[in-house]
Amino acid sequence: MENCLFCKIERGEIPADIVYQDENVVVFKDIAPKAKVHLLVIPRKHVDGLNDLLPEDQELVGKMMLLLPQLAKEQGLDTGFRTIINTGKGGGQEVFHLHIHLLGGGPLPFV
Ligand code: 5GP
Ligand code: ZN
Repeated sequence: MENCLFCKIERGEIPADIVYQDENVVVFKDIAPKAKVHLLVIPRKHVDGLNDLLPEDQELVGKMMLLLPQLAKEQGLDTGFRTIINTGKGGGQEVFHLHIHLLGGGPLPFV
């Protein structure tokens, strides 16, 4: 996706503080952190959001889910962490490239 912000980060066209990447997934720090640790986990493949996932994405989504506790451990979130996926305008989604927020460390601002 030519003009997608997170695709640009994935391609390295826009700088980001990347903390993990592999052939399927990129993880970087949120530019406006809402907690001490606030990471965004994105698939390299452009998907607008949860509503746009296909059956063939099952393995990719599984990889993203399994990565979360590993990242949390690396970030020192020993007492736990919060994950959020905003979907669509009604769900508060602002960047339309699927991403999982990983938050932790101190007070958390959301439900
Ligand atoms: P959403 O509301 O779509 O679930 O979350 C989008 C998130 O992306 C927000 O938390 C916002 O701070 C973050 N964000 C927006 N633009 C950038 C950017 O250019 N770089 C990084 N690292 N994060 C961004
Ligand atoms: Zn994208």
